[in-house]
Amino acid sequence: MKCPICGNEDIGRLSKSRFFCSDCFIEIFLSRKSEMQIYKILEDGTACAIAAEN
Ligand SMILES: [Zn+2]
Repeated sequence: MKCPICGNEDIGRLSKSRFFCSDCFIEIFLSRKSEMQIYKILEDGTACAIAAEN
């Protein structure tokens, strides 16, 4: 698993289907269908969806 935004291969794993890139401060969610959803973590801690792709 690597970050789809910056290509960082050292992203953190939060749970089975959640990953976090500390370089671009995003969370990546993988659905059961392996669809990828990317959320930007804002300064106040809220997650803002920025992309959804296969
Ligand atoms: Zn990244």
